Amino acid sequence: SRRYTVDLIAGDGIGQEVVPAATRVVDALARRHGFDMTWRDRNWGSAYFFEHGRMMPVDGIEQLSDGDAILLGAVGHPDLPDHETLWGLLIPIRREFLQYVNLRPVRVLPGVVSPLRDVEALDIVVVRENVEGEYSAVGGRAYRGTTDEFAIQEAVFTRTGITRVARYAAQLAATRRGSLTSATKSNGIIHSMPFWDEVVASVVSEVEGVRLRSTLIDALAAALVLRPGDFDVIVASNLFGDILSDLIAALAGSIGIAPSANINPPRHHPSMFEPIHGSAPDIAGKGIANPVGQLWSASLMLDHLGEAEAATALMTAIETAMSDGVLTADLGGTAGTQEFTSAVLRALSSGN
Ligand code: NAD
Ligand code: MN
Repeated sequence: SRRYTVDLIAGDGIGQEVVPAATRVVDALARRHGFDMTWRDRNWGSAYFFEHGRMMPVDGIEQLSDGDAILLGAVGHPDLPDHETLWGLLIPIRREFLQYVNLRPVRVLPGVVSPLRDVEALDIVVVRENVEGEYSAVGGRAYRGTTDEFAIQEAVFTRTGITRVARYAAQLAATRRGSLTSATKSNGIIHSMPFWDEVVASVVSEVEGVRLRSTLIDALAAALVLRPGDFDVIVASNLFGDILSDLIAALAGSIGIAPSANINPPRHHPSMFEPIHGSAPDIAGKGIANPVGQLWSASLMLDHLGEAEAATALMTAIETAMSDGVLTADLGGTAGTQEFTSAVLRALSSGN
């Protein structure tokens, strides 16, 4: 039968709560849909750091490289600087496996009361550039400790990097509603963005059936709040894509629902699936984290592995649980992580 080896990095905080929810549900799907999951549990993250002085073993990347996919929870610990946790685990995986697309879909799931009116039409995929741009390792430095302290961060945009992410986004838009928005900030001061605009426009012009508009990031943030139904696929640089996807997820009710796929078409390496949220230290250990972002990430993973039916069944089960009114606290409900997960498992076994 079909077998998949998936590395599990639950990581920190609520990652330890929502990742087990996802493996429970995926194991149930595997039984129903006739495939086998082998989970390789990795105890990497901040706890590993406190013991070994690093977030993962020296050969961590190598250990992941023969797997079919990586399912990650979150990293981030109140007693560790974020640059340590992010650059010690998450960012090396994205870069070493050249996961240049960070795909971030958001929809308004049933039963959710968004803070907005007119939100029913919200159905957006953010395609975030994931290996370069503003989150570059080049030239970043800080001169501290004198009265003339300063810090510099260089953004790196390459023609290759912009081309591949823009092509992916345009091809995705062509399979949806044909509308692609490019997040930009083209003015005479930022030098990288006119280059981004030029490369995006030329790549998109080669893809049939896609309308491109370039919108300034600040105006785009406002338009997303006022008219979320106007947007389909949004292609954005690393920083802009990071910010926009949290904004859009919040419009859809909570950042706890939103998933992401870090992928490298055409799949030379394992791809990584993770919710967009972090380790949420403010609610960690309370059993109240919303597992939907992690479960939806697992659905993206199943789709990527070729288990489209199981992926769809999972989304339908999430929607059934939510329209039955089973909601976690971030969405105004009273269900805990386990209770929500059990509702999803019940919906799975009662049909779809
Ligand atoms: P966060 O996403 O962890 O939390 C922001 C807010 O949203 C918090 O109030 C939290 O309780 C809430 N929230 C997040 N996920 C939720 C869920 N599933 N259910 C219910 N509520 C949820 O962001 P933060 O507080 O800015 O960062 C905390 C730590 O996580 C930091 O160390 C940060 O660096 C890290 N972080 C990691 C990732 C990642 O692993 N990819 C992403 C973002 C932040
Ligand atoms: Mn983020």
